[in-house]
Amino acid sequence: MTGWVKVAGLGPGDEAMVTEQVRAALAEATDVVGYIPYVARVAERPGLRLHPSDNRVELDRANHALDMASAGKQVVIVSSGDPGVFAMAAALFEALETRSDPDGYDIEILPGITAMLAAAARLGAPLGHDFCAINLSDNLKPWDLIEKRLRLAAQGGFAMAFYNPRAASRPGRFERVLEILRAELPGHVLIAFARAVTTGEEETRVVRLDEATPDMADMRTMVIVGNEDTRRVGRWVYSPRRVG
Ligand code: SAH
Repeated sequence: MTGWVKVAGLGPGDEAMVTEQVRAALAEATDVVGYIPYVARVAERPGLRLHPSDNRVELDRANHALDMASAGKQVVIVSSGDPGVFAMAAALFEALETRSDPDGYDIEILPGITAMLAAAARLGAPLGHDFCAINLSDNLKPWDLIEKRLRLAAQGGFAMAFYNPRAASRPGRFERVLEILRAELPGHVLIAFARAVTTGEEETRVVRLDEATPDMADMRTMVIVGNEDTRRVGRWVYSPRRVG
């Protein structure tokens, strides 16, 4: 048996949004590694070993997966959403960079529906024009850089999608984000908070930037800020394709 590693995205929560390709990989796997709540989404079966691990041990997890593949195991690393978006695929390549034979491993990245797209679809088409995605966690980058990117994205007229908007470990940061956006954009710009999209706990609200409060976001929320032309049509929100 030859070992392999597949890095799979499980989508935003709804089982119908797990791709056929990911299902097939999980059906063939001998081992599944990942953050505890994501591994919990994988059904147990004979012949499959689950290796749940805590958050913030991504590199250890990636090295574990590579070692198991070298030993002949068929390993799936699970991420939520898409594995290439602020998730395990980049961590795997970081681990691979430290190995002497990076092309000696059988690796495949299996895309998934990222939270940004699931949230946008619920709202309508807020990303119908140019947009950018920003991770608001300063776990792996300096906070100053986040502030700079927020300002430049707002000045550039981009709609914005924020991952990891708020955490107990970062008090006051999301308040600061709103302050920066209000300094750069008019108060009528729409901001959407889409929580736990496609799960039983889904909640979505859309307000004007000057009405937004920090408590509208938590760690399970995707925040989408429109551009100056983003508008409501009935219960929907969309960004027109034509601008200027
Ligand atoms: N790889 C994941 C993102 C990991 S970062 C993806 O592609 O979706 C984790 C952040 O994603 C959370 O803090 C939240 O902002 C967002 N997120 C993940 N699942 C979500 C969901 N079902 N609804 C809303 N936001 C979600």
